[in-house]
Amino acid sequence: MSNLDRHAVPSVCGGRGFVVAEPVRELLSPRQVRLGESTEVRRLLPNLGRRMIGAWCFVDHYGPDDIADEPGMQVPPHPHMGLQTVSWLHEGEVLHRDSTGSLQTIRPKELGLMTSGRAISHSEESPRPHARFLHGAQLWVALPDAHRDTDPHFEHHPDLPTVTAPGLTATIVLGALDGSASPGTAYTPIVAADLALSHGADVRLPLDPDFEYGVLAMSGEVHVDGVPVLPGSMLYLGCGRTELPLRAESDAGLMLLGGEPFEEELIMWWNFVGRTQAEIEQARADWTTGSRFGEVKGYDGAPLAAPSLPPTPLKPRGRTR
Ligand code: MN
Repeated sequence: MSNLDRHAVPSVCGGRGFVVAEPVRELLSPRQVRLGESTEVRRLLPNLGRRMIGAWCFVDHYGPDDIADEPGMQVPPHPHMGLQTVSWLHEGEVLHRDSTGSLQTIRPKELGLMTSGRAISHSEESPRPHARFLHGAQLWVALPDAHRDTDPHFEHHPDLPTVTAPGLTATIVLGALDGSASPGTAYTPIVAADLALSHGADVRLPLDPDFEYGVLAMSGEVHVDGVPVLPGSMLYLGCGRTELPLRAESDAGLMLLGGEPFEEELIMWWNFVGRTQAEIEQARADWTTGSRFGEVKGYDGAPLAAPSLPPTPLKPRGRTR
């Protein structure tokens, strides 16, 4: 998915200044964002006062939407650099195309992992015909400096490892949890796990005290470390935890996101993650002139035009909050 905001505002993130070293319970409210004609998403990251969790720098939750009589998701070709995108579905399907020639339908609980490296472009659409309901999350992972110029590539992993406990099935989406590792390529110490809880489940999830974590609620009624977290909201948990209590008041679906605090400072603008204003300007210019980002074949529609850059130069923020 894309940041389709026509008035894209730059966001400076990363750096130790935002990281909370001890366990906290900070509820993040979503911001409603319209994506194109028919899809509205709830944006959890970047959020006011909270820009990243580990290397996770962008989190959108969408649906469940009844798209029986709608086109559903229609995100035209657009560029990315300096990041990975994770497509994660609970219902429906998304057809992914990209400039490396990928053409892949992504279905519930399958990992679609796109590594932009220095440059990629892609489109995402609800195929025709499509399932009635569409429900999922779109996440971005910032690439560290040592890997951000890597070759662009796309991975599809339909069979992911799971960890179970009474009332819990955890699917390891990226990184590792409780000794089980995702086959998806990660470039920093990170984790994403899909947590399916059944009504009445009361479990403790093992965590790494060096990671910071957040939990995105996608469905059902659940208490995360005692805090009720409604679908479409996220609870930031800080660092220093060895376990996380979860209690489900109904069947519920969550995503655990975590990672080592991301210490490099970043500039995020539109669909780009960079380090300097000049890099962002160059990426915008390259997309506008049709160079570097390749071509997405087969999408029925024009590519997205880049919005204007704000007149004030973007600068990484200092390390203090
Ligand atoms: Mn995208």
